Amino acid sequence: MSQNIHVLPENLCNKIAAGEVVERPASVVKELLENSIDAGATDILVEVESGGKRLIRIVDNGTGMSQDDAFLALERHATSKVRKEEDLFAVSTLGFRGEALPSIASVSRLRLRARSRESETGWEIYAEGGSVRKAGEVGAPCGTTIEVRNLFFNTPARRKFMRREQTEMGHVADVVTRQALAFRHIRFRLVHGNRAIIEAHPEESLEARVAAILGRPLIREMRYVDEDGGSDLSLRGLVSQPSQTRSAPSHIYTFINGRYIRDRVVQHAVMEGYRSLLMKGRYPLAVLFIDIDPALVDVNVHPTKQEVRFRDQRLIHDFISSAVRRNLRDSSWLGESRDESSQTAPVDETRNEISGDRGFVPQSMRFQKGETIRESADRYSAPSRGLTGNATPGPDPTVDDDLFKGGDEAQAPGFFSSLQVLGQYHQSYILCQDGDDLVLVDQHAAHERVRFEQLRRQHHSREIERQSLLFPLVVEVDFLEAAQLEEHLQVLADLGFEVEPFGGNSFAVKALPHLLAEGDAEALLRDVVAELGETGKADRIDDAFDEVLMLMACHGSVRANQSLTGVEILALFKSLDGVDFSAQCPHGRPVMVRMGLGDVERLFKRL
Ligand code: ADP
Ligand code: MG
Repeated sequence: MSQNIHVLPENLCNKIAAGEVVERPASVVKELLENSIDAGATDILVEVESGGKRLIRIVDNGTGMSQDDAFLALERHATSKVRKEEDLFAVSTLGFRGEALPSIASVSRLRLRARSRESETGWEIYAEGGSVRKAGEVGAPCGTTIEVRNLFFNTPARRKFMRREQTEMGHVADVVTRQALAFRHIRFRLVHGNRAIIEAHPEESLEARVAAILGRPLIREMRYVDEDGGSDLSLRGLVSQPSQTRSAPSHIYTFINGRYIRDRVVQHAVMEGYRSLLMKGRYPLAVLFIDIDPALVDVNVHPTKQEVRFRDQRLIHDFISSAVRRNLRDSSWLGESRDESSQTAPVDETRNEISGDRGFVPQSMRFQKGETIRESADRYSAPSRGLTGNATPGPDPTVDDDLFKGGDEAQAPGFFSSLQVLGQYHQSYILCQDGDDLVLVDQHAAHERVRFEQLRRQHHSREIERQSLLFPLVVEVDFLEAAQLEEHLQVLADLGFEVEPFGGNSFAVKALPHLLAEGDAEALLRDVVAELGETGKADRIDDAFDEVLMLMACHGSVRANQSLTGVEILALFKSLDGVDFSAQCPHGRPVMVRMGLGDVERLFKRL
């Protein structure tokens, strides 16, 4: 019998591994940067030509390598970072698989030059397609330089997959950005041709690093998150306010124990924190560091180590989303003047004195430093409560009684209440003056937010009113859905659904959450059940509720094209001051827009 199975030659193994690890120039930069960081470098220079297709050179001042190590580094599964199996569960370095250098070498012309602190001279190795061609002593500073030329020169299929220079360069810059955000004590420079793309000096504060890399104006739109979630779990970093968004999640930078990751659960959790604050298809900016006991997360699930597996996904998810949400709610952007000294102050110091009832207001709404709150609200007599007329039949329960009680009078009015109302435009927008600024408030969006928060509060306090159906609705599902429905009957009951098995794969819906009774009950139930089955977590229920709450809020709200009296406007503003996230309607549209005097004067060519 002939033998068909054979062990592959080493070099071919490396090429196969390269298929997973080395996708494009940016992947090379990622691996080499990780090695430099693991080697304790404090200064890393990345030079790139043609988007990395022609040359990638990384110079670091880390530990360097001895002559023996330099050769070993190019061997497959050669690493200095793990020795025994247990080490795999407590990896503290970025690399540990011992695959990167041999993989990269197998698909490029690689030059490695290194000198350790102990040796007098450095050592240089030159390899082509993974075979060492030359090696010898050279003069070199301490540290390591790795040059990768002509990536994929020997794998034409791969070469064809590389994109335009600018595209590849964009990916390279992304990689450097991530590491520079994570390791702010390291100096990072990225040079493309003769152009400096990134220049980041060692920084004390995250804020300063983010400002240096993502831009200084941006930092003004972000605030600190700093939460502990038990002994071995914490979340720190910066999140943007909902008015600052991007069209893709590319600016959500998340790190687990210092390692950049792109994880579905984590990203979902961040978005969950922003729920109902962003318009569809918009994403916030965030730089978030999750620290967790390494035993509770497996980083060895993917060759590029960008995906992880948590032992308890749900715990992490809920911790992150509620931490982000809490921080957005407690927002102190409004009226917060962030001069140099306050920029580095941790937000916690200010958190308590800035109560949530001020709501959440974009940068454009901030008070100038030292500016006082005007008393224009006093011009109106305190309204009984709520809006009158058709706008809101009956009292508006969002306007807490407290808001109008004596004790409250002594308090400074909230932001909206303190605006000087000039009038109504097109029966849709309320014109106000705030200092020298002209402020336009969209009355419909404003009321929608108020209504929505009120409805949601009811829902959150678990007082979900049920509405019994006169005739039970019989829903026929498939066997998978049936199993999931059975499993979650109790969860559904807690949410206001009364569902009972009705023989075979049919179920009788006897009651619905009162708030949802108007909608398409069957579709809702299916969506909820599908989601329960998929994640084991009732995200969709909240989503479904939010969607319906938004709809209801929309219906019960002051419409555009409706004239409002001064009292009604003030009542609306007071209500707005009383809810969270008052600067966005539940669909994420802005509630208000501000124009400076300068903006107006420019319109009249006075400036
Ligand atoms: P891993 O990082 O998974 O250990 P690599 O193939 O990336 O595997 O690197 C192999 C080894 O080479 C590393 O374990 C490290 O000892 C050494 N090495 C690589 N790059 C550097 C560097 N820039 N400075 C010092 N040592 C390095
Ligand atoms: Mg490595």
